[in-house]
Amino acid sequence: MSVRTRFAPSPTGFLHIGGLRTALFCWLYARRHGGRFVLRIEDTDLERSTEAAIQQILDGMEWAGLVADEGPFYQTRRFDRYREVIDELLAEGKAYRCYCTKEELDALRAEQLARGEKPRYDGRWRDRTDARPGVQPVVRFKNPTGGEVVVEDVVHGRVVFQNAELDDLIIARSDGSPTYNFCVVVDDMDMNVTHVIRGDDHLNNTPRQQNMLVALGRKPPVYAHLPMILGADGAKLSKRHGAVSVLQYRDEGYLPEALLNYLVRLGWSHGDQEIFSIEEMVRAFDITDVNKSASAFNAEKLAWLNQQHMMRAEPRRLVEPLRWQLQQLGIACDDDAHLEAIALAQRERAKTLKEMAANSLFFFQPPADYDEKAVRKHITVESIAMLAEAAARLDRLDGWDAALIHAVVNEVATAAGAALGKLAQPLRLAVCGGTVSPPIDATLALLGREESLRRIERALARWRA
Ligand code: GLU
Repeated sequence: MSVRTRFAPSPTGFLHIGGLRTALFCWLYARRHGGRFVLRIEDTDLERSTEAAIQQILDGMEWAGLVADEGPFYQTRRFDRYREVIDELLAEGKAYRCYCTKEELDALRAEQLARGEKPRYDGRWRDRTDARPGVQPVVRFKNPTGGEVVVEDVVHGRVVFQNAELDDLIIARSDGSPTYNFCVVVDDMDMNVTHVIRGDDHLNNTPRQQNMLVALGRKPPVYAHLPMILGADGAKLSKRHGAVSVLQYRDEGYLPEALLNYLVRLGWSHGDQEIFSIEEMVRAFDITDVNKSASAFNAEKLAWLNQQHMMRAEPRRLVEPLRWQLQQLGIACDDDAHLEAIALAQRERAKTLKEMAANSLFFFQPPADYDEKAVRKHITVESIAMLAEAAARLDRLDGWDAALIHAVVNEVATAAGAALGKLAQPLRLAVCGGTVSPPIDATLALLGREESLRRIERALARWRA
């Protein structure tokens, strides 16, 4: 059977990076094997599931490019199917109605605790066929009473559970609604899932799910339980460590391919390769290479990878996200070629597109002010004279490109017996307001002759006063 994986988030909060890594591994595994990747929204917890969270998940997956081949399927739209399977199990004697009242269960629990035992349902309705009038029963799955359940987990190896430890799970509540573990089983069965790849917080659910699948006549899928992602301090990843919505990484100026590259390396490796394109990940990924120890989230590493991906990207790739970032700063630019040129000139100096946009404001508006400390350092009688001379020669230049501009700057500095920087820094200050920009020739070339000269004149007027 061809590979079928699924990502099954519960829409009770943000899609955060732990969830995205699970989705990525499922997606990669399906891609690698020419299989199908299914998206299933586990929204049966009506109190905690929200529309906003569903939308966040869908938007996050789309931004990351993890497109589902099937779905999204919603569990809340499958209640009829779950009822059908519950009826089947009842009819086959694989499940039964339990009429215990809450008081009875509380008393049972208290007795077990008093005897120093682990509280668990004792199966008292397992073999009864009568009913108790006035009580709405729950439905319980008849778990095998003896023997072991062996989960052959791809990441954790062979994990053995004793059936004696597993009591008869409620699969339908007294109002008839199906319960979580049961829905997962029916879905994995109906969706023909061959590989369940999920967080290892679900490892303990697996023996029950496996037993139910077997009762339904299915061969359990292959399980791969992924280790947790921890914060750099070793604690469970929380908001404080960057466990924010995946979309926040978009807003902070990360490229999705960089975030995915970062996530793929959490728990998985391929030799000592650090940087992967999406295609390389698909080619190299294998679930059997996933390591079972938890890995720590490292924001600096992510930022480094983001820059690596910006440096390797086709400059055209950076246009849209840069435009979006600039918009957030109140700058509208629909000139794609200009944005591409800015991205190309700026990418060495920024770890994120947000930073790139912030560093690029001067391409769109004249400096509101000049860095005072730098003015004190670089603006002198001599540099003012060089600036004026450079402006006059730039005005007469026959053409406008970085090479021509470079020649002028070089000649003016040389004629004054000064190092190039003695003119380049004042020029930068004049056009950018500060001393950080791409090489001055590229900066002026991008700004255009008219704007460059206007800014130099304006600065000269200020500094001469
Ligand atoms: N809905 C579960 C979660 O969000 C995942 C269940 C599963 O993958 O089996 O943690």
